[in-house]
Amino acid sequence: MSTIDNLKDRTTPVFSPDDVTVIFVLGGPGAGKGTQCERLVARYGFAHLSAGDLLRAEQNRPDSEFGDLIRHYIRNGLIVPMEVTIALLEAAMRQILDGPEPDAAAAAAPRPNKGGKFLIDGFPRKLDQAIKFEEAVVPARFVLFYDCPEHEMERRLLERGKTSGREDDNAESIRKRFRTFVETSMPVVDYFEKQNRVVKVDAVRQPDQVFETTQKELEKRLQL
Ligand code: ADP
Ligand code: AMP
Repeated sequence: MSTIDNLKDRTTPVFSPDDVTVIFVLGGPGAGKGTQCERLVARYGFAHLSAGDLLRAEQNRPDSEFGDLIRHYIRNGLIVPMEVTIALLEAAMRQILDGPEPDAAAAAAPRPNKGGKFLIDGFPRKLDQAIKFEEAVVPARFVLFYDCPEHEMERRLLERGKTSGREDDNAESIRKRFRTFVETSMPVVDYFEKQNRVVKVDAVRQPDQVFETTQKELEKRLQL
């Protein structure tokens, strides 16, 4: 990944917040981030980039030099080094922004990314990522934070684990992921909270109700 090399030294964002709207979507494992993002994509035409999905895809890419490293971090619920995660996100954003204009048939369908609006799901999970991304890629508009108690997240993940095939939806990995969330990722939420940049949504209710609140909060803040 060529972006890794130039990321280290870069101190100005590659994208302008005038052209690109980024919402960071955070919450504990199983809070319902992916579920809500899917609905936001269908309703408003956001592009949805899940850091976890991008890392799993890179892990499974036969030529990847990072496959074993990513597997180790994911199994243990640890934060994959930011150089890898940010490079994957930046490359995915670039691919979407540079993508071909839709042809006439596609133009009739909802545009996948009208106006460069991105939901970046499960990122940033550590303070260094938050700072580096905003410095070198683009500043985010705000954090959409799904708030859910651990016992409910655990119930959801164990249920999801019956069919997800994910190596980390098991009791032991889930425990490690919760610890990482509390120790490493909540400080990121606190960091944005101090800047008044967190929109908190109660994620315990049914998906439809959570989505209703999400819509209200986003429509207050963005031209959708
Ligand atoms: P995350 O992306 O935050 O890890 P997901 O969106 O994958 O979470 O949701 C975790 C599991 O919980 C999934 O199986 C999903 O279907 C289920 N789920 C999501 N939102 C809710 C909700 N509001 N109530 C009950 N179950 C939910
Ligand atoms: P998720 O799919 O969001 O549940 O994430 C699964 C796993 O991928 C996490 O437990 C981490 O090991 C890794 N991961 C996801 N997002 C990040 C991130 N922003 N930074 C580093 N590692 C991540």
